[in-house]
Amino acid sequence: MKKSYLFTPGPTSVPPEALKEMSRPIFHHRTTRYRKMFENITDSLKKLFRTENDVLTFTSSGSGAMEASVVNLLSSGDKVITVNGGKFGERWGNICRIYGVDVIEIKTEWGASVNPCQVEEILKQGCNNEIQAVFVTLSETSTGVVNDVKSIAEIVAKTPAVLVVDAISGLGADDIRTDDWHVDVLITGSQKGLMIPPGLAFASVSEKAWGKIVKSSLPKFYFDMEKARKSLISFDTPYTPATSLIRGLKVVLDMIHDEGVDNVIARHAKYAKASRAAVKAMGLELFAPDSPSNAVTAVKVPEGIDGDSLIKHLLDEYGIQVAGGQAHLKGKIIRFAHLGYYDRFDVIMVLSGIEMGLKDIGYDISLGCGIKAAEELLVG
Ligand SMILES: *Cc1c(COP(=O)(O)O)cnc(C)c1O
Repeated sequence: MKKSYLFTPGPTSVPPEALKEMSRPIFHHRTTRYRKMFENITDSLKKLFRTENDVLTFTSSGSGAMEASVVNLLSSGDKVITVNGGKFGERWGNICRIYGVDVIEIKTEWGASVNPCQVEEILKQGCNNEIQAVFVTLSETSTGVVNDVKSIAEIVAKTPAVLVVDAISGLGADDIRTDDWHVDVLITGSQKGLMIPPGLAFASVSEKAWGKIVKSSLPKFYFDMEKARKSLISFDTPYTPATSLIRGLKVVLDMIHDEGVDNVIARHAKYAKASRAAVKAMGLELFAPDSPSNAVTAVKVPEGIDGDSLIKHLLDEYGIQVAGGQAHLKGKIIRFAHLGYYDRFDVIMVLSGIEMGLKDIGYDISLGCGIKAAEELLVG
């Protein structure tokens, strides 16, 4: 007998209550019953995003909402800033360039957060306020870094540019305050902190952003935000929504608001802190020690050990699924989440798996040292 444990930074495990709800018989979406549910969900999402702005729902993975924000805000030849500190920050540049947008990319070392002053400098150089948008990542899932979105937002808010934040793994784990901080477009997906399967993407849109959207001339059809906004007036979507996922979403949003958004974030912070203490106690090095995200912890694999072999061993031997490094970090780091439907014992399990896995493949570790460090911070 072997059990499976999903500790990847997306997709994350789904609570049984949501799984049950999603298995119920389908009902039609052009009905009062559906619209009532979707109205309730949209309100709940706004509370989670901490915004009064419209929150639009798309049937796609998170990247769909990333592409949506590019094609709705911009026109070909527009100048933008993207922050590339990992795989997902890099994606902003890739999407923009495909559409003929002129990208000024701020590259930060993977494992470090961006210095907000760098964004400020480029915005200042952009004479005649020609920069239209700034694209950043809240929690850079590929490196385990959280960026200082609050400071970046303060800078961008003083310019005509809009700030677009990929909070696909960050929302519900790291603090983000859409309206208080002046984030114009905040994006998330369903399969990370929201605890339901992949397939839904969300974007909140500020008035400043709508001002750009009416002028945008990039091509769009499925991801047309103005169409989505019009449908939202009657709590509807332009095209068939993923109704079963929406039902699951209702369940998890109720769970999140029962716990309270601040408490949810505090829980993630606690688990992240315990995980980092454990990793250090195991004699391992954190990949992002200076600005760690609450969603995911990235760990350098010790010299002489191949990260991908360790990951395969954890899965084959213990049924534990964690993630590896992407691009040049392949084999060099492992990443595990403490994101969404997690409690203290999920944290202990993944750490315990890593200790045992390391021991199996010959790393000199005294079993239990990481667990002890974590328990000290999780007890009580
Ligand atoms: C998972 C993730 C994405 C990609 O989302 P998909 O749902 O795979 O399209 C983008 N950005 C971040 C920060 C993520 O964690």
